[in-house]
Amino acid sequence: MTDTKPLLGAHESIAGGVHQALLLGREVGCDVVQIFVKTPSRWASKSLTADDIAAFQATKAEVGIWPVFGHSLYLINLASPDDELWRKSIDALADDLERCERLELPGLVIHPGSHKGAGEAVGLARICQGLESVHRRLPGYRVQVWLETTAGQGDHLGYTFGQLRAMIDGVRRQVHMRWDEETRAQESH
Ligand SMILES: [Zn+2]
Repeated sequence: MTDTKPLLGAHESIAGGVHQALLLGREVGCDVVQIFVKTPSRWASKSLTADDIAAFQATKAEVGIWPVFGHSLYLINLASPDDELWRKSIDALADDLERCERLELPGLVIHPGSHKGAGEAVGLARICQGLESVHRRLPGYRVQVWLETTAGQGDHLGYTFGQLRAMIDGVRRQVHMRWDEETRAQESH
């Protein structure tokens, strides 16, 4: 690799449409841009329309900013010990990823989650189960989940590389186990 120039970017607003973030990025000279794919403080937002997608793709081609990546809702907590909030988080993450996939974004940044006093091991297991559930729901998706490092404030997980490693390994193990089970099930037919 000969070009080592770092890519500089910013998180830009999608007020007025997802394509607006690209125009704002061009104004301040961004190489890359991060966006929310819906209002970050609300569980539900209206779906992206075909016009939204078309405007985004046209503006992307015009301004030449790439990659653009997504940032998930702040409300999502895959480590939550509360079953209702945990399931809601899985639904919201799947919705965020669907939006990213339609916009052809390469990745969605998520905060791994807070165990809320349930303990780190419990929280890590919940995160792995949540991610696995999302993977199972969205087969064939190209967009990736990108785990954000945290400062370890409160009970937030993801403040050591060891924890991030445990999340990645935990999901891989579960995906692999599922694959093994499916293979065995097919072989036994
Ligand atoms: Zn973040």
